[in-house]
Amino acid sequence: MSTDHTPVEALTDREAAKELLRLAGLIKHHDQLYYARSAPEIEDAAYDALRLRNLAIEARFPSLKRADSPSDRVGAAPADGFAKVRHSRPMLSLGNAFDADDVEEFLARVRRFLGLAETEDIAVIAEPKIDGLSLALRYEDGRLVQAATRGDGAEGEDITANALTLKDIPARIAGAPPVLEVRGEVYMSHSAFARLNERRATADQPLYVNPRNAASGSLRQLDTRITAERELGFFAYSLGEVSAPIAETHSGLLAQLGEWGLPINPLSRVCGSLDELLATYADFLQQRASLDYDIDGVVYKVDRTDWQERLGQVSRAPRWAIAHKFPAEQAETILEQIDIQVGRTGALTPVARLAPVFVGGVTVTNATLHNEDEIARKDVRVGDTVVIQRAGDVIPQVVRAVLEKRPADSQPYAFPHRCPVCDSEAVRPEGEVIRRCTGGLICSAQAVERLKHFVSRNAFDIEGMGTKRIEELWADEIVRSPADIFRLKDRRADLVQRERWGSQSVVNLLAAIEDRRTWPLERFIFALGIRQIGQATAKLLARAYGSLDGLIEAVTAARDSESEAYADLINIDQMGKDVAADLIAFFAEAHNREVVADLAQFLTLEAPEAVQQSPVSGKTVVFTGTLERMTRAEAKARAESLGAKVAGSVSKKTDYVVAGADAGSKAKKAADLGLAILTEDEWLAKIGQEA
Ligand SMILES: [Zn+2]
Repeated sequence: MSTDHTPVEALTDREAAKELLRLAGLIKHHDQLYYARSAPEIEDAAYDALRLRNLAIEARFPSLKRADSPSDRVGAAPADGFAKVRHSRPMLSLGNAFDADDVEEFLARVRRFLGLAETEDIAVIAEPKIDGLSLALRYEDGRLVQAATRGDGAEGEDITANALTLKDIPARIAGAPPVLEVRGEVYMSHSAFARLNERRATADQPLYVNPRNAASGSLRQLDTRITAERELGFFAYSLGEVSAPIAETHSGLLAQLGEWGLPINPLSRVCGSLDELLATYADFLQQRASLDYDIDGVVYKVDRTDWQERLGQVSRAPRWAIAHKFPAEQAETILEQIDIQVGRTGALTPVARLAPVFVGGVTVTNATLHNEDEIARKDVRVGDTVVIQRAGDVIPQVVRAVLEKRPADSQPYAFPHRCPVCDSEAVRPEGEVIRRCTGGLICSAQAVERLKHFVSRNAFDIEGMGTKRIEELWADEIVRSPADIFRLKDRRADLVQRERWGSQSVVNLLAAIEDRRTWPLERFIFALGIRQIGQATAKLLARAYGSLDGLIEAVTAARDSESEAYADLINIDQMGKDVAADLIAFFAEAHNREVVADLAQFLTLEAPEAVQQSPVSGKTVVFTGTLERMTRAEAKARAESLGAKVAGSVSKKTDYVVAGADAGSKAKKAADLGLAILTEDEWLAKIGQEA
């Protein structure tokens, strides 16, 4: 039966899924006509109705929201790769200044060009130069219609859908001129970068080298869900095409962009003289180490917009701006040794041991060499003098070997083909960058790493079970599998006897272990340390199967790739065939099933709570004004029980504003932002409590 006229409230799950599929296709079709060929088939109002219906269904059935949901994008998505975009005005690069003389010369050139007296001060704004990727955001009638990467400056890639997943980038701007192209920098903070690499390490995926690479890789994902979870930030710093002038100064422009909801770097300041510019440079350089994002210099821009226009550009750089670069945080030292670490899944990772060297504000003794191919590509050898580079909190890396200083008797580094711990063969399947120990159960390095993972913070979080203790208990054959941890209570007397353990710390440890006898299923699944099963996937599996027995039964049935169980498994959100294969392989191994069963007898595993399904789950609501049918506290509690988030102030993230009597400024702001404003009765009707 056709579902296209069924009210959203009356749809069943199955019908809703079908309807979302139909709407996704239909909206995409109209988008393509509109954006790609400028030949719309339907009125704007009819088009808006399709989008609203899609949103309403998604609100009622959040779990059915599609990966290609039209609510996540604007404009036509290219079928493969990204469409090319020609920039309305080229995205220029900046000339460089390396010292004070260069900056002085820049100011002198500006004066000469504008015919100013040498005594006349020029207001120049100094902005930190963010080390990220340039992005151009085009708003038409206040709506984001296109986001494009810099590309070669003339032509970039259309990444609109991805840009819309950044919380720093508003989809709409109230009060913008008809055409407004904002340019700025997308970056990844150090903390987000650390979290991302931690997740990747857990899932046994290759790590990103630095935040800029990570930001670039994250922004240019064909699957926008991946971009969305990468926590990218954005700073606006200039304009492309605009239909009307915005401000008389660059500082005024930034202030206006800030008012429109675009993030502006808070460090930028207007300077009146060369000395002030250089003092600002020194200040930013000093702050650099404590910022949560990478900056690699300071950009100086003539503040007056009319002067910028007069100055124009020479070749591909503006005359009114220059980048004053920071010295690189690099240093030379001796590579004393290359150690190979063995991870929980047997991955062999090379680590450079260095003669201590001071770089970027800290003493460095270790650096990453990434992998076998990187060592070969750079031809880094033990005994070499190497260049080390460090940026912010990022793990230092070996940039290159200084060949002039290479000892005469040096030998190319031979990456081991056997595990340095258990001596099993280490193999590298074709097409992979990681070489792995094949020792499996006999490899103590893997076993110890698996136990460390099992007790780690996001898994069983057992306090008092540190690396040293695990290694000790493993070596003495007291703890060989996770279940042995729960058997420690029978060995209290042994433990107290151990050197440096002490009876109180044993009491504390055993209490911490007992405290974990009841534990969430998702953390149990994560704790097993199965390849590619990170926290997010573990959670999805726990939700999908509800119990350990349910999971094992389903995964066992899924060994047959023709089965329904297999189809169900790979259909779980974000679960690809690769991940499913690792999961199936883990439970296909008899030993692993024994270890899991042995462990499970000690535990009560809690199934995840069902997600509350309501028309407002996942939505952000703001209550304002005097409510008449309920108190503010009651309204908040009820909304939260239905899965909504209640916020104190209106922002572009707000979904609904519920306005009581005398609603005032919040309601006004909501109207300016074009948000849905509901009366108290409309709200009650929406959440199914008749007025
Ligand atoms: Zn091994």
